[in-house]
Amino acid sequence: MLDAIVIGAGPAGNQAAIKLSGRGHSVLVLDYRSNIGDKLCTGIIGRECAERFELPDRFVYHRAKSVTICPALGDPVRVSREREHAYVVDRVGFVAHLADRAMRAGSEYRLRRRVTGLDVLQDRVRISANGPDGPETHEARAAVIASGYSTGLAKLAGLQPAPKGAFAAQVPLRGLALDEVKVFLRGPLPRGYFGWLVPAGPDRALAGVLGRERSSRALPQLLDAIGKDGTSFRPDGPAMSWGVPLKPPARTYAHRILLAGDAAGQVKPTTGGGIYYSLLSGELAADALADALDEDDLNERSLKRYELAWKSMLGRELRVGYIARAIYERMNDRSIGSIVRIAASNGILSEHVSFDWHADIVTRGLKYPRFDSILAPFRETNRAGVSGNGK
Ligand SMILES: Cc1cc2nc3c(=O)[nH]c(=O)nc-3n(C[C@H](O)[C@H](O)[C@H](O)COP(=O)(O)OP(=O)(O)OC[C@H]3O[C@@H](n4cnc5c(N)ncnc54)[C@H](O)[C@@H]3O)c2cc1C
Repeated sequence: MLDAIVIGAGPAGNQAAIKLSGRGHSVLVLDYRSNIGDKLCTGIIGRECAERFELPDRFVYHRAKSVTICPALGDPVRVSREREHAYVVDRVGFVAHLADRAMRAGSEYRLRRRVTGLDVLQDRVRISANGPDGPETHEARAAVIASGYSTGLAKLAGLQPAPKGAFAAQVPLRGLALDEVKVFLRGPLPRGYFGWLVPAGPDRALAGVLGRERSSRALPQLLDAIGKDGTSFRPDGPAMSWGVPLKPPARTYAHRILLAGDAAGQVKPTTGGGIYYSLLSGELAADALADALDEDDLNERSLKRYELAWKSMLGRELRVGYIARAIYERMNDRSIGSIVRIAASNGILSEHVSFDWHADIVTRGLKYPRFDSILAPFRETNRAGVSGNGK
């Protein structure tokens, strides 16, 4: 019998497969797509992620040393750094490259397989999938569910899915001469939304929006804002939308089962960025599962070590980030503009904001005297738990 089946060949699943195979375990990865990694995403990752997960240069569209933040009120604010702090990457290429690494380490991949059933038995996990030649069944000692946002598979394993998250929509554009990332805070967008415009290859850009409630207006409003100063561009494909989790589910492990990545709600609630945390959680899931497989102890109690490990790394980030998002969603344009201007003029944005780790700067920001009057109306949200280690 196989040691592990990984459901989903995204960042989380591929990284789990790389590690599990590297530890000598037999792994089968199932994904319904035929093109690995082809999931709606902008593909921005921070330098730390690129270094840690060895992003090859050939997948880099753009190296970001600066960003222009466009608050609804007041002038845009340009934040630049000496060194590049983020990369816009060919997301499909990078995720497929991770799958290649897993295959080279010994993982078997079967694509065009949609998992439809999951039976957790005492001594094994039985997975049913629809493949190109009809229904298939696969068995393994354990499974990692890395199937992304809200696929319902967690429920089949007796776990609650991640709570309802956010809604993101994106459209590829041509014809814009764009040499840096732009972020749009509120303004024409619905309350709680933010938007982005990023260079993604020669003469190509991606424009997207993210907010809590589904909105068909948000993306057209962003495009209007981009074209307001006469900038011309044309769509280079259809606008598409997908969900983004903002919170983890109550539990991310069960008998012979682990959840990782978006399926486990491991996304930065501030920006909706989940590639790095998915890679990290795929790795932590594989470490915990490999140990449990070696000990032949795959019950719930044994697999709890995974949740302890990811909470110790990401728990505070998810909790504090969620509070920051909740505050942002309630702020008006004036308050957002004031925070951006103060943070930019004091060097906070250029010197202290990490691309991937937001809890420290949010915690400091909430105590920063110059933000006091702006943040006063949100004291209650803040008190809901920014202090403490949150693990
Ligand atoms: C518009 C948009 C823009 C984004 N931009 C960024 C960004 O710039 N930077 C960033 O860090 N994050 C971004 N994200 C978030 C990021 O895409 C996800 O957090 C990340 O892809 C999660 O990785 P994952 O491996 O957990 O899941 P996924 O990448 O979703 O992979 C899950 C895989 O499981 C497969 N699958 C699902 N169900 C089944 C099934 N039943 N059977 C078989 N296979 C199945 C899917 O085909 C998929 O390949 C963005 C999200 C959206 C929606």
